[in-house]
Amino acid sequence: MLDRVLQEIRERCRFVVTSHARPDGDGIGSALACAQILRQLGKESEVVMHDGVPRIYQSLPFADRVIRSESVPPNDAVVILECDSIKRTQLHGLEDCFLINIDHHVSGRNFANVNWIDSSVMATAELIYRMARLAGVPLDSDIATCLYTALMTDTGSFMFEGTNEHTFAIARELVLAGADPAHCARNIYFGHSTAKLRLLGAALANLHREGSLAWIWVTQEQMERFGAREEDCEGLVNYALSIGDVQVAVFFRELPDSRWRVSLRSKGEVNVSAVAEHFGGGGHKCASGCSLDGPMEVAVSRVVERLRVEKEAVKTA
Ligand code: 5GP
Repeated sequence: MLDRVLQEIRERCRFVVTSHARPDGDGIGSALACAQILRQLGKESEVVMHDGVPRIYQSLPFADRVIRSESVPPNDAVVILECDSIKRTQLHGLEDCFLINIDHHVSGRNFANVNWIDSSVMATAELIYRMARLAGVPLDSDIATCLYTALMTDTGSFMFEGTNEHTFAIARELVLAGADPAHCARNIYFGHSTAKLRLLGAALANLHREGSLAWIWVTQEQMERFGAREEDCEGLVNYALSIGDVQVAVFFRELPDSRWRVSLRSKGEVNVSAVAEHFGGGGHKCASGCSLDGPMEVAVSRVVERLRVEKEAVKTA
């Protein structure tokens, strides 16, 4: 499928690269690297993101070129990374474009003209790395920094299940090409806002437990009180997962329209992607997300109930 992707790229000139709304490290890093690889191939290429670039990723190479927009500019093709549908990008105008879908989620779908979905890799960055290699684009330190940051964040700093010798082999190549691991890590893990830490305090004050499940939440009122942005919620769920006897952790966040955004994380026994997909979301076995209607008690009890079902399925398997 990579051959087909490269063939379609060769036949076109102007590209837009995008990823999902509220982009994470893999979404941003892979998009920035992909756009630069396209430029190295002599193409016009711009990254367009519905939500722009979250603060902790703003020092990545080319991040200042990202266009924040609700619609796609004129193009010959759009490369969509990390999405299971057009809707996930929240961009208008994609329906009439030639679409190239590159994804590594188990919940990935063939919604585009060309679909390269490989759920065996830890990050979309690995696919973009392969694309650069096969296209003969040399990895400079800027591309390497974007891809390393994407790989580091989507593997949970090389700690998530599935991280293996191939992940480290690619990380090694990226470091050899000029990515500085300490510098990349400092920006991501020591670049938080005060609002995020206040939000963490509020979320942990709401910690609930049931057996090996743990869940936390923050309300819209708390978000506003602390001056927190959506991006300040990224990673909070991991604090609940860090408890020794917790197998699954969930973070609930109230949205301005009173719906609830849900982040699910698992240490590996329970497939949280199945739970997210049940509610119209998706993701990976160990990290997934979805949205539900409120009120909070209803959203929490629906998710917890579904997790009980998944946990039972593990026991009887
Ligand atoms: P997060 O909890 O950090 O928002 O997302 C965890 C993982 O699940 C990411 O890989 C993300 O792309 C995926 N994910 C989160 N929300 C959704 C959703 O609503 N739909 C789909 N398909 N994937 C999601």
